[in-house]
Amino acid sequence: MGEVKGFLKYNRLELKKESVENRITHYNEFLQPLTEEELKTQGARCMDCGIPFCQSGCPIDNLIPEWNDLVYRDRWQDAAKRLLSTNNFPEFTGRVCPAPCETSCVVSINRPAVTIKNIEKSIIEKAFNDGYIKPNPPKNRTGKQVAVVGSGPAGLASADQLNKRGHSVTLFEKNEVLGGLLTLGIPDYKLDKNIVERRINLMKLEGVEFKINCDIGKDIKLSELQKNFDAVVLCSGAEEPRDLKVEGRELDGIHFAMDFLKQQNRRNGNRNVIEKEISAKGKNVVVIGGGDTGSDCIGTSIRQGAKSVINLELMPQLPSERAKGNPWPDWALIDRVSTSIEEGCKREFAVMTKAFLGKDGNIEKLKIVKLKFGFPDPKTGRRSMTEIPNSEFEIEADLVILALGFLGTVKNNLLDELKIATDQRSNVIGDKGYMTNLNGIFTAGDMRVGQSLVVRAINEGRNVAESIDEYLMKEYKA
Ligand SMILES: Cc1cc2nc3c(=O)[nH]c(=O)nc-3n(C[C@H](O)[C@H](O)[C@H](O)COP(=O)(O)OP(=O)(O)OC[C@H]3O[C@@H](n4cnc5c(N)ncnc54)[C@H](O)[C@@H]3O)c2cc1C
Ligand code: SF4
Repeated sequence: MGEVKGFLKYNRLELKKESVENRITHYNEFLQPLTEEELKTQGARCMDCGIPFCQSGCPIDNLIPEWNDLVYRDRWQDAAKRLLSTNNFPEFTGRVCPAPCETSCVVSINRPAVTIKNIEKSIIEKAFNDGYIKPNPPKNRTGKQVAVVGSGPAGLASADQLNKRGHSVTLFEKNEVLGGLLTLGIPDYKLDKNIVERRINLMKLEGVEFKINCDIGKDIKLSELQKNFDAVVLCSGAEEPRDLKVEGRELDGIHFAMDFLKQQNRRNGNRNVIEKEISAKGKNVVVIGGGDTGSDCIGTSIRQGAKSVINLELMPQLPSERAKGNPWPDWALIDRVSTSIEEGCKREFAVMTKAFLGKDGNIEKLKIVKLKFGFPDPKTGRRSMTEIPNSEFEIEADLVILALGFLGTVKNNLLDELKIATDQRSNVIGDKGYMTNLNGIFTAGDMRVGQSLVVRAINEGRNVAESIDEYLMKEYKA
């Protein structure tokens, strides 16, 4: 433990942000790192708790108190070793994780939590900058071949782990670029794509083979992979978007969030946008859905030069501080005002879209109704929802973006050919070791659990790699 009373002596420091005025003129990351001296005192705020609740809040079991202490003691290289022992890609989570570790941190019971996420990012960035992250290919190869389908964080983590165990890994990606939602979903201003490329280049030097523009189920059958590889792992995400099938849905100008975000990410990467251009420039934009994806659409619309942006959310606004029924160390159910919302967006809570209204085939307005919510049902926790009579109103819109979440994996030939089993939520079913109903074919990430978080996808990738290793080495227990 750094300083016994560090948490009393030092305040939590947040990263400084570039002003809204400046940052909306570009798509680059805009958070300014803390200095090493500042990071040391932030590390000193950690109490090295007997039971480190931060670690149980972290889906990947990061050894948080250990690296907080090492940063305080200026032992950055050791801190990086500890960090990389549980997390293949801290440079991604250090940027985009919602940091459940921080809401579980013991300090956060009555004061601001230890700044765990910023320390994580600083450790790994210093490791890259100081040159002690070097390609480290395995000394020996097992002779076993594994195919990974999908290059999101789950596919990348499983490929990285399997390669480290000496198996030969080929990763297939249907897009022209690697990284899954890290590259084509999350905007550049949250995660610079050079950071994703830097990691993938390292994995290439360590021996992982990548094949892009290769849609499994279309360009190559899954049965072929099954024949040519000793094991296959499907990490193809949960890409089926939830639609809003109300009157007027067919009007032009209503798009799914990913169709909008993908285009901007491709433009930023100087790649071709092949689909019909979607632009928010000069438009009244309505983003339906108040989650992270909705927030990314808001920030992107503002950068594209939208005239106005309104965000509609079905549920009521959450409180700014934990409610009584939501105690520490549970995930804090509070209203998180994202940096994109800060950039200039009006929010409407507890509203439902009844219809899209248009003229000459184009969207012009949304018909909205206000909602009233009952108390949570003691058994299900669900709240009843009723429309408030005579509360209907209209809002103008030239562009509507649907950010309503995802309905599991896309049903296509990848699953159909060999009849891979899915559950009621369209997630691929895996057993305890993540093996599907077919021997030797595994699954992980959003494809198995539904749309989630980068940190969970990395954890899934690590777990499936462990199981595949046992399977290849004849130690697999279902
Ligand atoms: C807009 C958006 C923003 C998000 N922001 C955050 C955030 O800030 N923080 C956070 O923690 N989480 C965020 N998430 C969630 C997070 O990105 C996902 O949970 C995570 O990427 C899932 O990883 P994955 O590897 O399972 O799937 P994905 O990242 O979806 O990757 C799946 C890959 O499989 C490929 N694929 C699919 N089918 C085939 C096929 N047949 N053949 C070959 N390849 C195929 C896809 O092209 C894709 O590259 C966000 C999600 C979205 C949509
Ligand atoms: S819970 Fe907070 S104070 Fe305790 S070990 Fe974890 S980071 Fe440090």
